[in-house]
Amino acid sequence: MHNLTGYKCISCNKVFTQHNNYCVECVTTELTEFELSPVGNIHSWTTIHIPPSRYKDDIPYTVILVEMIDGIKVMGLLKEINEAKVGKKVLLTELDKDRGPLFSVYTG
Ligand SMILES: [Zn+2]
Repeated sequence: MHNLTGYKCISCNKVFTQHNNYCVECVTTELTEFELSPVGNIHSWTTIHIPPSRYKDDIPYTVILVEMIDGIKVMGLLKEINEAKVGKKVLLTELDKDRGPLFSVYTG
């Protein structure tokens, strides 16, 4: 199990996946770092059959946009490529340095 790092505004509690120098909501400069929960729900998804050439050996694969329970959206890949469904709960299982976050269907 892996966790992504998130950043939270200490003034308005808005969360971000990338560190900014200030909060885009309230322009406060004080952001705190925290570990995102690895659990989220599929917000949208698509299965890729005609990929960019660097991924040509990986098709088909399923790209998902996950709404993490901390309230931010993360793009990743779903291991069970035929099980994507909007609203399905998924778990971040791996952070691949080339391909980014890898998710599995959450069964716990
Ligand atoms: Zn803020």
